[in-house]
Amino acid sequence: MADQVDVTIIGGGPVGLFAAFYAGLRHMSVRIIDSLPELGGQLTALYPEKYVYDMPGFPKVLAKDLAREMAQQGTQFSPQIVLGDTAESLSEDMVIGTRSGLHLPTKTVIISAGAGAFSPTKIGLADEESWVGKGLHYGVRHLADFEGLRVAVIGGGDSAFDWALALSDVASEVHVVHRRDVFRAHEDTVEKVQALPVGFHLFKTVAAIQGEGRITGIEMEDTQTKERSVLACDTVVVNIGFKSSLGPLKDWGLTIEKNQIVVDHLYRTNRPGVFAVGDVCSFEGKLKLIATGVGEAATAVCIAKTMIEPEAKLFPGHSSDMNL
Ligand SMILES: Cc1cc2nc3c(=O)[nH]c(=O)nc-3n(C[C@H](O)[C@H](O)[C@H](O)COP(=O)(O)OP(=O)(O)OC[C@H]3O[C@@H](n4cnc5c(N)ncnc54)[C@H](O)[C@@H]3O)c2cc1C
Repeated sequence: MADQVDVTIIGGGPVGLFAAFYAGLRHMSVRIIDSLPELGGQLTALYPEKYVYDMPGFPKVLAKDLAREMAQQGTQFSPQIVLGDTAESLSEDMVIGTRSGLHLPTKTVIISAGAGAFSPTKIGLADEESWVGKGLHYGVRHLADFEGLRVAVIGGGDSAFDWALALSDVASEVHVVHRRDVFRAHEDTVEKVQALPVGFHLFKTVAAIQGEGRITGIEMEDTQTKERSVLACDTVVVNIGFKSSLGPLKDWGLTIEKNQIVVDHLYRTNRPGVFAVGDVCSFEGKLKLIATGVGEAATAVCIAKTMIEPEAKLFPGHSSDMNL
């Protein structure tokens, strides 16, 4: 059995990373568990190349750069980090069981699991899986991978249009394929994309992916006439949403409403010693923002600290007064 830590943080997204930093600041031993292979949560997994404009002190910062800085800050007190593994169970005596079979004892738990383990919505083709790695993508990790390629972007929401805009700088051709003629994306982004030499294929769904070894095109079906047509492309970027589920966390005996964990004003769940912060938690007035989530994390850490050490102060003082 592994060492018992003061706090285990489930989810290494921006809020979990700040919780790890703050717990380190408070001289707590910390373990972070994330099912993804890298830290950063939604910032790294969903929108690494997008700008974030509402982080205090950063008028504009790329999500991947923010994730990198938050990971550096969050790991500066050397927490134990378990990546690529999912927290599945929490026993009465506070031992977390993971998918890979680890048993990780802890005094307290801070759940910062975001939307839970998330997965992209698929197009729904029988052979879809087989195209992953051969030109089919769910979102864009590195713009440079699309240099000089003909890209079909599937979807009409913000992500689809943001990527169409960003890809138009590097790709040789960009096409937007959407099942309707109205878009959920921000009007301003739609106008910018419409002003570019981007092909629009409206009232179209993807009926098949074509190619041998690599994608060479998609067969589209008109949603009104059911007519089929072929769009030649090298790569397909699907942006039709994400499915998220708290998955195993639903069986932890926590009060859950609308896929979020209900907390009180100190971010305590109904299970003693278990807190929830960030996107995963629910209370009246909750805003799903990084700026608000990190404040929730600091509070939860300080409450956890005073639970473990009742003589400890709730407020540790200002970081600017500390020698880090
Ligand atoms: C396209 C897009 C743009 C956005 N733009 C902004 C913006 O401009 N400003 C802003 O403030 N917010 C923005 N957001 C929202 C912001 O990203 C979220 O509020 C933030 O990521 C929440 O952080 P979190 O740490 O709570 O959760 P997440 O970032 O979702 O991280 C949760 C982590 O928990 C892990 N996890 C889940 N379940 C388990 C488990 N059982 N075991 C182990 N690991 C688990 C997941 O793998 C994930 O890495 C945007 C979101 C999207 C999708």
